[in-house]
Amino acid sequence: MTYKSDIEIAQSVKLRDIREIAAKLGLGDEDIELYGRYKAKVDYNLLKKDTGRKAKLILTTAINPTPAGEGKTTTTIGTADALSRLGKKTIATLREPSLGPVFGVKGGAAGGGYAQVVPMEDINLHFTGDIHAVTAANNLLAAMIDNHIYQGNELNIDTRRIVWRRAIDINDRQLRFIVNGLGGKVNGVPREDGFDITVASEIMAVFCLALDIKDLKERLSKIVVAYNRDGGPVTAGDLKAQGAMAALLKDALKPNLVQTLEGTPVFVHGGPFANIAHGCNSIIATKMAMLLADYVVTEAGFGADLGAEKFIDIKCRLAGIKPDAVIIVASIRALKHHGGVPKSDLNKENLKALEKGLPNLVKHVENITKVFNLPAVVAINKFPTDTEAELELIKDRCEALNVNTVLSEVWARGGEGGENLARELLRLIEDDKRDNKMTFAYELDMPIKEKIRAIAQKIYGARDVIFTDKALKEIENMEKLGFAKMPVCMAKTQYSLTDDPKKLGRPTNFDITVRDVTVSAGAGFLVALTGEIMKMPGLPKVPAAEKIDVDENGVISGLF
Ligand code: ADP
Ligand code: MG
Repeated sequence: MTYKSDIEIAQSVKLRDIREIAAKLGLGDEDIELYGRYKAKVDYNLLKKDTGRKAKLILTTAINPTPAGEGKTTTTIGTADALSRLGKKTIATLREPSLGPVFGVKGGAAGGGYAQVVPMEDINLHFTGDIHAVTAANNLLAAMIDNHIYQGNELNIDTRRIVWRRAIDINDRQLRFIVNGLGGKVNGVPREDGFDITVASEIMAVFCLALDIKDLKERLSKIVVAYNRDGGPVTAGDLKAQGAMAALLKDALKPNLVQTLEGTPVFVHGGPFANIAHGCNSIIATKMAMLLADYVVTEAGFGADLGAEKFIDIKCRLAGIKPDAVIIVASIRALKHHGGVPKSDLNKENLKALEKGLPNLVKHVENITKVFNLPAVVAINKFPTDTEAELELIKDRCEALNVNTVLSEVWARGGEGGENLARELLRLIEDDKRDNKMTFAYELDMPIKEKIRAIAQKIYGARDVIFTDKALKEIENMEKLGFAKMPVCMAKTQYSLTDDPKKLGRPTNFDITVRDVTVSAGAGFLVALTGEIMKMPGLPKVPAAEKIDVDENGVISGLF
Protein backbone atom coordinates (compact mmCIF):
# COMPACT_ATOMS: atom_id res chain seq x y z
CA MET A 1 0.00 0.00 0.00
CA THR A 2 1.31 3.44 -0.83
CA TYR A 3 0.50 6.51 1.17
CA LYS A 4 0.37 10.13 0.14
CA SER A 5 3.32 12.16 1.39
CA ASP A 6 2.78 14.85 4.00
CA ILE A 7 3.18 17.64 1.46
CA GLU A 8 0.79 15.94 -0.99
CA ILE A 9 -1.88 15.73 1.70
CA ALA A 10 -1.23 19.32 2.77
CA GLN A 11 -1.49 20.60 -0.80
CA SER A 12 -4.75 18.71 -1.43
CA VAL A 13 -6.65 20.60 1.28
CA LYS A 14 -8.26 23.96 0.68
CA LEU A 15 -7.06 26.40 3.28
CA ARG A 16 -9.45 28.75 5.04
CA ASP A 17 -8.83 32.50 5.08
CA ILE A 18 -6.85 33.18 8.26
CA ARG A 19 -9.42 35.82 9.27
CA GLU A 20 -11.95 33.02 9.58
CA ILE A 21 -9.58 31.15 11.91
CA ALA A 22 -8.96 34.33 13.92
CA ALA A 23 -12.72 34.86 14.24
CA LYS A 24 -13.01 31.44 15.92
CA LEU A 25 -10.89 32.93 18.69
CA GLY A 26 -12.90 36.11 18.86
CA LEU A 27 -10.13 38.07 17.12
CA GLY A 28 -11.15 40.79 14.69
CA ASP A 29 -9.23 42.59 11.95
CA GLU A 30 -7.85 45.08 14.47
CA ASP A 31 -6.20 42.30 16.51
CA ILE A 32 -4.24 40.65 13.72
CA GLU A 33 -1.63 41.59 11.13
CA LEU A 34 -2.01 39.62 7.92
CA TYR A 35 1.03 37.94 6.36
CA GLY A 36 -0.69 36.92 3.14
CA ARG A 37 -4.02 35.06 3.24
CA TYR A 38 -3.13 32.15 5.49
CA LYS A 39 -0.81 33.53 8.15
CA ALA A 40 -1.29 36.31 10.67
CA LYS A 41 0.52 37.74 13.65
CA VAL A 42 -1.38 38.54 16.80
CA ASP A 43 -0.49 41.57 18.89
CA TYR A 44 1.10 40.51 22.20
CA ASN A 45 -0.51 43.51 23.89
CA LEU A 46 -3.71 41.45 23.84
CA LEU A 47 -2.17 39.65 26.81
CA LYS A 48 -2.88 42.73 28.86
CA LYS A 49 -6.61 42.16 28.40
CA ASP A 50 -7.06 39.37 30.89
CA THR A 51 -10.43 37.85 30.14
CA GLY A 52 -10.37 35.76 33.31
CA ARG A 53 -10.68 32.67 31.13
CA LYS A 54 -9.13 29.59 32.69
CA ALA A 55 -8.00 27.41 29.84
CA LYS A 56 -6.86 23.85 30.35
CA LEU A 57 -3.31 23.15 29.25
CA ILE A 58 -2.37 19.78 27.77
CA LEU A 59 1.30 18.95 27.30
CA THR A 60 2.51 16.45 24.71
CA THR A 61 5.78 14.68 25.44
CA ALA A 62 7.26 11.28 24.56
CA ILE A 63 9.59 8.40 25.29
CA ASN A 64 13.25 8.90 24.37
CA PRO A 65 13.37 9.71 20.66
CA THR A 66 14.57 7.06 18.21
CA PRO A 67 15.25 7.10 14.47
CA ALA A 68 11.94 5.24 14.16
CA GLY A 69 9.86 8.35 14.89
CA GLU A 70 7.42 8.83 17.74
CA GLY A 71 5.15 11.59 16.48
CA LYS A 72 4.74 14.28 19.16
CA THR A 73 3.88 17.10 16.76
CA THR A 74 1.51 14.88 14.79
CA THR A 75 -0.21 13.83 18.03
CA THR A 76 -0.40 17.41 19.33
CA ILE A 77 -2.12 18.58 16.16
CA GLY A 78 -4.43 15.55 15.94
CA THR A 79 -5.45 15.96 19.58
CA ALA A 80 -6.29 19.61 19.03
CA ASP A 81 -8.42 18.63 16.01
CA ALA A 82 -10.11 15.90 18.02
CA LEU A 83 -10.97 18.31 20.85
CA SER A 84 -12.35 20.73 18.25
CA ARG A 85 -14.49 17.91 16.84
CA LEU A 86 -15.85 17.28 20.33
CA GLY A 87 -17.00 20.90 20.39
CA LYS A 88 -14.21 22.31 22.54
CA LYS A 89 -12.65 25.68 21.75
CA THR A 90 -9.06 24.57 21.20
CA ILE A 91 -5.69 25.95 20.06
CA ALA A 92 -2.45 24.07 19.55
CA THR A 93 0.85 25.83 20.22
CA LEU A 94 4.03 24.61 18.55
CA ARG A 95 7.62 25.57 17.85
CA GLU A 96 8.74 27.06 14.55
CA PRO A 97 10.81 24.58 12.53
CA SER A 98 14.48 25.39 12.06
CA LEU A 99 15.91 25.21 8.54
CA GLY A 100 18.67 22.98 9.90
CA PRO A 101 16.55 19.85 10.34
CA VAL A 102 14.32 20.76 7.36
CA PHE A 103 17.30 20.45 4.98
CA GLY A 104 19.03 17.80 7.10
CA VAL A 105 17.47 14.54 8.27
CA LYS A 106 14.03 15.47 9.51
CA GLY A 107 12.63 17.26 6.48
CA GLY A 108 10.03 19.40 8.26
CA ALA A 109 8.20 19.75 11.55
CA ALA A 110 4.58 20.68 10.90
CA GLY A 111 3.05 17.31 11.81
CA GLY A 112 2.32 14.43 9.49
CA GLY A 113 -0.37 12.55 7.57
CA TYR A 114 -3.82 13.98 8.26
CA ALA A 115 -2.62 15.84 11.35
CA GLN A 116 -0.69 18.78 9.96
CA VAL A 117 -0.43 22.53 10.25
CA VAL A 118 -0.65 24.50 7.04
CA PRO A 119 0.66 26.17 4.95
CA MET A 120 3.37 23.60 5.73
CA GLU A 121 5.77 24.87 3.04
CA ASP A 122 5.82 28.35 4.57
CA ILE A 123 5.98 27.10 8.15
CA ASN A 124 8.93 24.86 7.30
CA LEU A 125 10.80 27.50 5.27
CA HIS A 126 10.95 31.24 6.04
CA PHE A 127 7.46 31.51 7.58
CA THR A 128 7.06 35.05 8.93
CA GLY A 129 10.78 35.67 9.28
CA ASP A 130 11.01 35.23 13.06
CA ILE A 131 14.05 32.97 12.97
CA HIS A 132 15.81 35.36 10.59
CA ALA A 133 15.12 38.17 13.05
CA VAL A 134 16.71 36.09 15.80
CA THR A 135 19.73 35.49 13.55
CA ALA A 136 20.02 39.23 12.89
CA ALA A 137 19.79 40.13 16.59
CA ASN A 138 22.39 37.48 17.43
CA ASN A 139 24.81 38.73 14.79
CA LEU A 140 24.29 42.40 15.60
CA LEU A 141 25.48 41.60 19.11
CA ALA A 142 28.48 39.69 17.72
CA ALA A 143 29.39 42.64 15.49
CA MET A 144 29.09 45.05 18.42
CA ILE A 145 31.45 42.91 20.53
CA ASP A 146 34.16 42.82 17.87
CA ASN A 147 33.67 46.48 17.06
CA HIS A 148 34.05 47.33 20.73
CA ILE A 149 37.38 45.52 20.82
CA TYR A 150 38.51 47.11 17.54
CA GLN A 151 37.61 50.59 18.81
CA GLY A 152 39.85 50.29 21.87
CA ASN A 153 38.22 47.70 24.17
CA GLU A 154 37.19 50.03 26.96
CA LEU A 155 35.45 47.15 28.77
CA ASN A 156 38.75 45.24 28.86
CA ILE A 157 37.21 42.17 27.19
CA ASP A 158 39.50 39.14 27.28
CA THR A 159 39.47 38.16 23.60
CA ARG A 160 40.23 34.55 24.57
CA ARG A 161 37.08 34.46 26.68
CA ILE A 162 34.39 35.68 24.31
CA VAL A 163 31.49 33.25 24.79
CA TRP A 164 29.11 34.83 22.27
CA ARG A 165 29.14 33.10 18.89
CA ARG A 166 27.73 34.00 15.53
CA ALA A 167 24.57 32.27 14.22
CA ILE A 168 23.03 30.97 11.02
CA ASP A 169 19.94 28.76 10.68
CA ILE A 170 21.53 26.14 8.42
CA ASN A 171 23.29 22.91 9.39
CA ASP A 172 26.86 23.82 8.50
CA ARG A 173 29.62 21.97 10.34
CA GLN A 174 32.24 23.95 8.40
CA LEU A 175 31.44 26.97 10.54
CA ARG A 176 31.78 25.33 13.95
CA PHE A 177 35.27 26.68 14.52
CA ILE A 178 36.66 29.59 12.52
CA VAL A 179 39.29 32.29 12.75
CA ASN A 180 38.12 35.75 11.76
CA GLY A 181 39.28 39.34 11.85
CA LEU A 182 42.15 38.47 9.49
CA GLY A 183 43.57 40.85 6.90
CA GLY A 184 45.57 43.35 8.91
CA LYS A 185 44.92 46.31 11.16
CA VAL A 186 41.90 47.87 9.46
CA ASN A 187 40.02 44.56 9.19
CA GLY A 188 39.40 43.78 12.83
CA VAL A 189 41.20 41.87 15.55
CA PRO A 190 41.97 38.21 14.71
CA ARG A 191 40.43 35.67 17.05
CA GLU A 192 38.94 32.20 17.23
CA ASP A 193 35.20 32.24 16.74
CA GLY A 194 32.42 30.01 15.42
CA PHE A 195 28.78 29.70 14.46
CA ASP A 196 25.88 28.00 16.23
CA ILE A 197 22.61 27.17 14.57
CA THR A 198 20.19 30.06 15.27
CA VAL A 199 17.77 27.95 17.28
CA ALA A 200 20.63 27.11 19.70
CA SER A 201 21.31 30.82 20.25
CA GLU A 202 20.50 32.27 23.65
CA ILE A 203 18.49 34.94 21.82
CA MET A 204 15.99 32.24 20.83
CA ALA A 205 15.71 31.07 24.44
CA VAL A 206 15.30 34.66 25.66
CA PHE A 207 12.69 35.32 22.99
CA CYS A 208 10.68 32.29 24.09
CA LEU A 209 10.82 33.12 27.79
CA ALA A 210 10.14 36.86 27.51
CA LEU A 211 6.81 38.01 28.90
CA ASP A 212 6.67 41.31 26.95
CA ILE A 213 8.96 43.87 25.25
CA LYS A 214 10.17 45.30 28.56
CA ASP A 215 11.07 41.87 29.86
CA LEU A 216 12.68 41.02 26.50
CA LYS A 217 14.97 44.03 26.76
CA GLU A 218 15.88 43.26 30.36
CA ARG A 219 16.74 39.68 29.46
CA LEU A 220 18.73 40.68 26.39
CA SER A 221 20.76 43.16 28.43
CA LYS A 222 21.70 40.41 30.93
CA ILE A 223 23.21 38.08 28.32
CA VAL A 224 26.84 37.36 29.20
CA VAL A 225 28.87 37.75 26.01
CA ALA A 226 32.43 37.55 27.35
CA TYR A 227 34.57 37.84 30.46
CA ASN A 228 36.94 40.73 31.13
CA ARG A 229 40.59 40.33 32.05
CA ASP A 230 39.63 40.30 35.76
CA GLY A 231 37.24 37.40 35.19
CA GLY A 232 34.06 39.48 35.51
CA PRO A 233 31.15 39.06 33.08
CA VAL A 234 30.63 41.47 30.20
CA THR A 235 26.99 41.71 29.13
CA ALA A 236 25.00 42.82 26.10
CA GLY A 237 23.81 45.65 28.35
CA ASP A 238 27.43 46.80 28.84
CA LEU A 239 27.62 47.11 25.04
CA LYS A 240 24.27 48.96 24.95
CA ALA A 241 22.96 46.41 22.44
CA GLN A 242 19.60 45.43 23.99
CA GLY A 243 17.49 48.24 22.49
CA ALA A 244 18.56 47.60 18.90
CA MET A 245 18.28 43.84 19.35
CA ALA A 246 14.75 44.21 20.73
CA ALA A 247 13.89 46.50 17.81
CA LEU A 248 14.92 43.74 15.42
CA LEU A 249 12.70 41.31 17.34
CA LYS A 250 9.58 43.42 17.80
CA ASP A 251 7.47 41.79 15.07
CA ALA A 252 8.93 38.36 15.69
CA LEU A 253 7.60 38.58 19.26
CA LYS A 254 4.00 38.48 18.00
CA PRO A 255 2.64 34.89 17.87
CA ASN A 256 1.99 33.47 14.38
CA LEU A 257 -1.53 32.21 13.78
CA VAL A 258 -2.04 29.38 11.29
CA GLN A 259 -4.46 26.45 10.97
CA THR A 260 -4.55 22.67 10.99
CA LEU A 261 -5.84 20.76 7.95
CA GLU A 262 -9.19 20.70 9.79
CA GLY A 263 -9.23 24.41 10.57
CA THR A 264 -8.23 24.37 14.24
CA PRO A 265 -6.26 27.52 15.17
CA VAL A 266 -2.55 26.99 15.91
CA PHE A 267 0.14 29.32 17.20
CA VAL A 268 3.55 28.43 15.79
CA HIS A 269 5.99 30.64 17.62
CA GLY A 270 9.65 30.44 18.66
CA GLY A 271 11.79 27.35 18.46
CA PRO A 272 14.64 26.87 20.93
CA PHE A 273 16.72 23.67 20.95
CA ALA A 274 15.71 21.18 23.61
CA ASN A 275 19.25 20.36 24.75
CA ILE A 276 21.16 23.61 25.20
CA ALA A 277 17.86 25.46 25.74
CA HIS A 278 14.41 24.60 27.06
CA GLY A 279 12.76 23.30 23.86
CA CYS A 280 9.23 24.66 23.66
CA ASN A 281 7.33 27.47 21.95
CA SER A 282 7.20 30.99 23.39
CA ILE A 283 5.57 31.79 26.71
CA ILE A 284 3.76 34.63 24.95
CA ALA A 285 2.10 32.19 22.51
CA THR A 286 1.12 29.71 25.24
CA LYS A 287 -0.28 32.44 27.48
CA MET A 288 -2.12 34.08 24.61
CA ALA A 289 -3.59 30.72 23.61
CA MET A 290 -4.77 30.19 27.20
CA LEU A 291 -6.49 33.56 27.02
CA LEU A 292 -8.29 32.85 23.76
CA ALA A 293 -9.36 29.19 24.01
CA ASP A 294 -10.64 26.67 26.55
CA TYR A 295 -8.13 23.94 25.69
CA VAL A 296 -4.51 24.46 24.68
CA VAL A 297 -2.45 21.54 23.42
CA THR A 298 1.30 22.13 23.33
CA GLU A 299 4.47 20.14 22.74
CA ALA A 300 7.85 19.97 24.44
CA GLY A 301 10.84 18.78 22.40
CA PHE A 302 12.64 15.41 22.60
CA GLY A 303 11.60 12.94 25.35
CA ALA A 304 10.01 13.65 28.71
CA ASP A 305 13.42 13.51 30.42
CA LEU A 306 14.49 16.67 28.57
CA GLY A 307 11.51 18.52 27.07
CA ALA A 308 8.84 17.90 29.68
CA GLU A 309 11.26 18.35 32.58
CA LYS A 310 12.30 21.75 31.24
CA PHE A 311 8.73 22.65 30.29
CA ILE A 312 7.77 22.17 33.94
CA ASP A 313 10.88 23.21 35.85
CA ILE A 314 11.80 26.18 33.65
CA LYS A 315 8.85 27.39 31.56
CA CYS A 316 5.93 26.65 33.90
CA ARG A 317 7.83 27.96 36.90
CA LEU A 318 8.61 31.23 35.13
CA ALA A 319 5.24 31.71 33.44
CA GLY A 320 3.15 30.62 36.44
CA ILE A 321 1.27 27.99 34.42
CA LYS A 322 0.90 24.22 34.73
CA PRO A 323 -0.36 21.40 32.55
CA ASP A 324 -3.74 19.94 33.47
CA ALA A 325 -2.92 16.69 31.69
CA VAL A 326 0.04 15.17 29.86
CA ILE A 327 0.14 12.99 26.74
CA ILE A 328 3.14 10.67 26.54
CA VAL A 329 3.61 9.57 22.94
CA ALA A 330 5.08 6.19 22.09
CA SER A 331 5.06 4.11 18.94
CA ILE A 332 5.43 0.38 18.51
CA ARG A 333 8.41 1.02 16.21
CA ALA A 334 10.17 3.24 18.71
CA LEU A 335 9.60 0.80 21.57
CA LYS A 336 11.03 -2.01 19.45
CA HIS A 337 14.07 0.17 18.83
CA HIS A 338 14.46 0.61 22.60
CA GLY A 339 14.23 -3.18 22.77
CA GLY A 340 17.29 -3.46 20.53
CA VAL A 341 15.91 -3.70 16.98
CA PRO A 342 17.99 -1.81 14.37
CA LYS A 343 16.24 0.74 12.17
CA SER A 344 16.28 -1.52 9.10
CA ASP A 345 14.24 -4.25 10.85
CA LEU A 346 11.60 -2.08 12.49
CA ASN A 347 8.91 -2.98 9.98
CA LYS A 348 8.93 -6.64 11.05
CA GLU A 349 6.77 -7.87 13.89
CA ASN A 350 8.87 -8.45 17.00
CA LEU A 351 6.93 -8.99 20.20
CA LYS A 352 9.98 -9.83 22.26
CA ALA A 353 11.76 -6.57 21.41
CA LEU A 354 8.56 -4.61 21.98
CA GLU A 355 8.27 -6.00 25.47
CA LYS A 356 11.95 -5.36 26.09
CA GLY A 357 11.61 -1.70 25.08
CA LEU A 358 8.56 -1.03 27.23
CA PRO A 359 10.45 -0.04 30.43
CA ASN A 360 11.58 3.16 28.71
CA LEU A 361 7.95 4.21 28.41
CA VAL A 362 7.16 3.14 31.97
CA LYS A 363 9.96 5.33 33.35
CA HIS A 364 8.62 8.42 31.59
CA VAL A 365 5.10 7.66 32.82
CA GLU A 366 6.42 7.39 36.37
CA ASN A 367 8.23 10.69 36.00
CA ILE A 368 5.13 12.55 34.87
CA THR A 369 2.72 10.97 37.35
CA LYS A 370 4.96 10.46 40.39
CA VAL A 371 7.73 13.08 40.19
CA PHE A 372 5.66 15.89 38.69
CA ASN A 373 2.37 14.60 40.06
CA LEU A 374 0.39 15.21 36.87
CA PRO A 375 -2.37 13.12 35.25
CA ALA A 376 -1.09 11.34 32.15
CA VAL A 377 -2.20 9.18 29.26
CA VAL A 378 0.04 7.24 26.91
CA ALA A 379 -0.86 7.74 23.24
CA ILE A 380 0.24 4.83 21.10
CA ASN A 381 0.75 6.56 17.76
CA LYS A 382 -0.36 3.91 15.26
CA PHE A 383 1.91 3.40 12.25
CA PRO A 384 0.87 1.44 9.13
CA THR A 385 3.52 -1.19 9.94
CA ASP A 386 2.14 -2.04 13.41
CA THR A 387 0.68 -5.55 13.62
CA GLU A 388 -2.47 -6.56 15.52
CA ALA A 389 -0.39 -8.80 17.80
CA GLU A 390 1.94 -5.92 18.64
CA LEU A 391 -0.93 -3.54 19.41
CA GLU A 392 -2.60 -6.23 21.52
CA LEU A 393 0.58 -6.92 23.47
CA ILE A 394 1.18 -3.27 24.31
CA LYS A 395 -2.42 -2.88 25.46
CA ASP A 396 -2.18 -5.94 27.72
CA ARG A 397 1.18 -5.08 29.24
CA CYS A 398 0.21 -1.48 29.90
CA GLU A 399 -3.01 -2.61 31.55
CA ALA A 400 -1.08 -5.02 33.75
CA LEU A 401 1.31 -2.23 34.75
CA ASN A 402 -1.56 0.16 35.38
CA VAL A 403 -0.37 2.47 32.62
CA ASN A 404 -3.25 4.43 31.11
CA THR A 405 -3.05 3.91 27.33
CA VAL A 406 -5.09 4.96 24.30
CA LEU A 407 -4.50 4.15 20.64
CA SER A 408 -4.14 7.27 18.49
CA GLU A 409 -4.82 7.17 14.76
CA VAL A 410 -4.53 10.87 13.97
CA TRP A 411 -1.83 10.37 11.34
CA ALA A 412 -4.15 8.18 9.23
CA ARG A 413 -7.50 9.73 10.13
CA GLY A 414 -6.95 13.26 11.45
CA GLY A 415 -9.03 14.53 14.38
CA GLU A 416 -11.47 11.64 14.12
CA GLY A 417 -8.63 9.23 14.87
CA GLY A 418 -7.87 11.15 18.07
CA GLU A 419 -11.32 11.30 19.60
CA ASN A 420 -10.68 8.49 22.08
CA LEU A 421 -7.51 10.23 23.20
CA ALA A 422 -9.33 13.55 23.49
CA ARG A 423 -12.13 11.96 25.54
CA GLU A 424 -9.59 10.39 27.88
CA LEU A 425 -7.89 13.77 28.34
CA LEU A 426 -11.21 15.40 29.16
CA ARG A 427 -11.89 12.65 31.67
CA LEU A 428 -8.44 13.08 33.28
CA ILE A 429 -8.89 16.82 33.56
CA GLU A 430 -12.40 16.43 34.95
CA ASP A 431 -11.39 13.70 37.41
CA ASP A 432 -8.25 15.28 38.70
CA LYS A 433 -8.86 14.98 42.43
CA ARG A 434 -5.39 16.21 43.23
CA ASP A 435 -6.51 19.70 42.29
CA ASN A 436 -3.38 19.72 40.21
CA LYS A 437 -0.66 19.82 42.80
CA MET A 438 2.17 19.86 40.31
CA THR A 439 5.56 19.47 41.95
CA PHE A 440 8.93 20.50 40.51
CA ALA A 441 11.92 18.16 40.31
CA TYR A 442 13.94 20.64 42.41
CA GLU A 443 13.59 23.96 44.18
CA LEU A 444 15.50 27.03 43.02
CA ASP A 445 17.17 27.70 46.36
CA MET A 446 18.92 24.32 46.39
CA PRO A 447 22.69 24.43 45.71
CA ILE A 448 23.53 24.05 42.00
CA LYS A 449 24.98 20.57 42.45
CA GLU A 450 21.89 19.39 44.30
CA LYS A 451 19.58 20.68 41.58
CA ILE A 452 21.53 18.73 38.97
CA ARG A 453 21.58 15.65 41.20
CA ALA A 454 17.81 15.87 41.73
CA ILE A 455 17.17 15.87 37.97
CA ALA A 456 19.63 13.04 37.32
CA GLN A 457 18.37 10.79 40.08
CA LYS A 458 14.63 11.47 39.96
CA ILE A 459 14.15 11.93 36.22
CA TYR A 460 16.92 9.89 34.59
CA GLY A 461 17.13 7.21 37.29
CA ALA A 462 20.87 7.77 37.75
CA ARG A 463 22.83 6.46 40.71
CA ASP A 464 24.80 9.68 41.11
CA VAL A 465 26.35 12.63 39.32
CA ILE A 466 30.06 12.93 38.65
CA PHE A 467 31.30 16.49 38.28
CA THR A 468 34.57 17.03 36.41
CA ASP A 469 37.09 19.45 37.92
CA LYS A 470 36.14 21.98 35.27
CA ALA A 471 32.46 21.68 36.16
CA LEU A 472 33.23 22.11 39.87
CA LYS A 473 35.30 25.20 39.15
CA GLU A 474 32.56 26.68 36.99
CA ILE A 475 29.87 25.93 39.60
CA GLU A 476 31.94 27.79 42.18
CA ASN A 477 32.36 30.63 39.72
CA MET A 478 28.60 30.77 38.98
CA GLU A 479 27.87 30.93 42.70
CA LYS A 480 30.37 33.78 43.08
CA LEU A 481 28.82 35.68 40.17
CA GLY A 482 25.36 35.43 41.76
CA PHE A 483 23.77 32.92 39.39
CA ALA A 484 23.17 30.15 41.95
CA LYS A 485 19.38 30.58 42.26
CA MET A 486 18.62 29.90 38.60
CA PRO A 487 16.94 26.76 37.27
CA VAL A 488 19.21 24.27 35.51
CA CYS A 489 18.84 23.45 31.82
CA MET A 490 20.36 20.02 31.24
CA ALA A 491 22.21 19.57 27.95
CA LYS A 492 22.09 15.80 27.51
CA THR A 493 21.63 13.41 24.62
CA GLN A 494 17.95 12.96 23.77
CA TYR A 495 18.33 9.32 22.80
CA SER A 496 18.92 7.86 26.23
CA LEU A 497 17.94 8.41 29.83
CA THR A 498 21.70 8.35 30.47
CA ASP A 499 24.37 10.63 28.98
CA ASP A 500 25.34 7.86 26.51
CA PRO A 501 23.15 7.86 23.36
CA LYS A 502 23.70 4.11 22.90
CA LYS A 503 22.12 3.06 26.20
CA LEU A 504 18.51 2.50 25.23
CA GLY A 505 15.52 1.24 27.21
CA ARG A 506 15.59 1.93 30.95
CA PRO A 507 19.21 1.67 32.08
CA THR A 508 20.08 1.24 35.75
CA ASN A 509 23.29 1.61 37.76
CA PHE A 510 24.69 4.50 35.78
CA ASP A 511 26.17 7.86 36.68
CA ILE A 512 25.75 11.12 34.81
CA THR A 513 28.94 13.08 34.14
CA VAL A 514 28.66 16.86 34.13
CA ARG A 515 31.61 18.27 32.19
CA ASP A 516 30.89 21.95 32.31
CA VAL A 517 28.38 24.48 33.57
CA THR A 518 27.67 27.71 31.71
CA VAL A 519 25.21 30.51 32.29
CA SER A 520 22.50 31.80 29.98
CA ALA A 521 21.87 34.83 32.15
CA GLY A 522 19.39 36.40 29.75
CA ALA A 523 17.32 33.26 29.49
CA GLY A 524 17.75 32.97 33.24
CA PHE A 525 19.11 29.44 33.51
CA LEU A 526 22.36 27.58 34.05
CA VAL A 527 23.28 25.00 31.42
CA ALA A 528 24.83 21.75 32.70
CA LEU A 529 26.66 20.03 29.87
CA THR A 530 26.91 16.25 29.79
CA GLY A 531 28.64 14.54 26.89
CA GLU A 532 29.30 16.35 23.63
CA ILE A 533 26.49 18.75 22.86
CA MET A 534 26.15 19.87 19.31
CA LYS A 535 25.21 23.52 18.87
CA MET A 536 25.89 23.41 15.14
CA PRO A 537 24.71 20.18 13.47
CA GLY A 538 26.07 18.99 10.13
CA LEU A 539 24.16 17.72 7.12
CA PRO A 540 23.85 13.94 6.60
CA LYS A 541 25.34 12.09 3.64
CA VAL A 542 22.11 12.53 1.69
CA PRO A 543 20.54 15.76 2.97
CA ALA A 544 16.77 16.23 2.65
CA ALA A 545 17.71 19.38 0.69
CA GLU A 546 18.57 17.22 -2.34
CA LYS A 547 14.90 16.35 -2.82
CA ILE A 548 13.34 19.76 -2.19
CA ASP A 549 12.30 21.68 -5.28
CA VAL A 550 9.97 24.40 -6.57
CA ASP A 551 8.19 24.69 -9.93
CA GLU A 552 7.40 27.77 -12.04
CA ASN A 553 4.12 28.28 -10.14
CA GLY A 554 5.95 28.40 -6.86
CA VAL A 555 4.67 24.98 -5.79
CA ILE A 556 7.18 23.34 -3.49
CA SER A 557 7.84 19.60 -3.37
CA GLY A 558 10.00 17.31 -1.29
CA LEU A 559 9.21 18.60 2.19
CA PHE A 560 7.93 15.95 4.61
P1 ADP B 1 8.13 14.50 16.69
O1 ADP B 1 7.36 15.75 16.92
O2 ADP B 1 8.03 13.55 17.85
O3 ADP B 1 9.53 14.72 16.29
P2 ADP B 1 6.53 14.24 14.28
O4 ADP B 1 5.12 14.30 14.71
O5 ADP B 1 7.14 15.47 13.70
O6 ADP B 1 7.44 13.70 15.47
O7 ADP B 1 6.67 13.01 13.26
C1 ADP B 1 7.90 12.69 12.66
C2 ADP B 1 7.64 12.07 11.31
O8 ADP B 1 6.97 10.81 11.46
C3 ADP B 1 6.76 12.90 10.39
O9 ADP B 1 7.32 12.92 9.10
C4 ADP B 1 5.43 12.19 10.36
O10 ADP B 1 4.78 12.31 9.11
C5 ADP B 1 5.81 10.75 10.65
N1 ADP B 1 4.74 10.10 11.41
C6 ADP B 1 4.24 10.49 12.60
N2 ADP B 1 3.27 9.66 13.00
C7 ADP B 1 3.15 8.70 12.06
C8 ADP B 1 2.31 7.55 11.90
N3 ADP B 1 1.41 7.23 12.82
N4 ADP B 1 2.46 6.80 10.80
C9 ADP B 1 3.40 7.12 9.87
N5 ADP B 1 4.21 8.18 9.95
C10 ADP B 1 4.10 8.97 11.02
MG1 MG C 1 7.99 17.76 16.99
